[in-house]
Amino acid sequence: MKPNNVSMMKCGHAANALTGPPPGMPCCAICGPNGEGWNVVDDSYLYLENRRAQCHYYGMTTRHNECNFGGEGDKVCRCEQPSDPTHLPFFEYLGPGSPLRLCKHCGLGIGAHRAGDYACPTRYNNRGKPGEIIPGSEKWRGKTYEAKEYKFDSFYCGCHGWN
Ligand SMILES: [Zn+2]
Ligand SMILES: [Zn+2]
Ligand SMILES: [Zn+2]
Ligand SMILES: [Zn+2]
Repeated sequence: MKPNNVSMMKCGHAANALTGPPPGMPCCAICGPNGEGWNVVDDSYLYLENRRAQCHYYGMTTRHNECNFGGEGDKVCRCEQPSDPTHLPFFEYLGPGSPLRLCKHCGLGIGAHRAGDYACPTRYNNRGKPGEIIPGSEKWRGKTYEAKEYKFDSFYCGCHGWN
């Protein structure tokens, strides 16, 4: 299961960029430089065993279908594969401990929560209209980040083309 050349990062993404110091350290450009675990390698891989991943568009209509996993003729994406960052493009680990999981209270990512105590946000900070109250946020006032359960990890099979 452990791949030769792709590191898993603590943020849940397979490494997709390099950083330093020292130069050439694997990192995640999607989560860095402010996200959780973007420059911390997690090479245990035990947590990927027996997990499966579904395409980000699983169950949705395909477009410009260039599936890499045998589904080029499919009108609806049905791509599901064993979890493996070496073979699955844009692989995301979504199991226990992954900061990529959205909050079950507010539906936002961990990065949208308050630093320190991870309180669910009730006002927009840097997105949209800063300071404005988020519609519906009275439902999660006083709650803190708790991850939703995800049965599958995520990747992208190519069913919407590769550009
Ligand atoms: Zn990441
Ligand atoms: Zn596919
Ligand atoms: Zn929340
Ligand atoms: Zn797909």
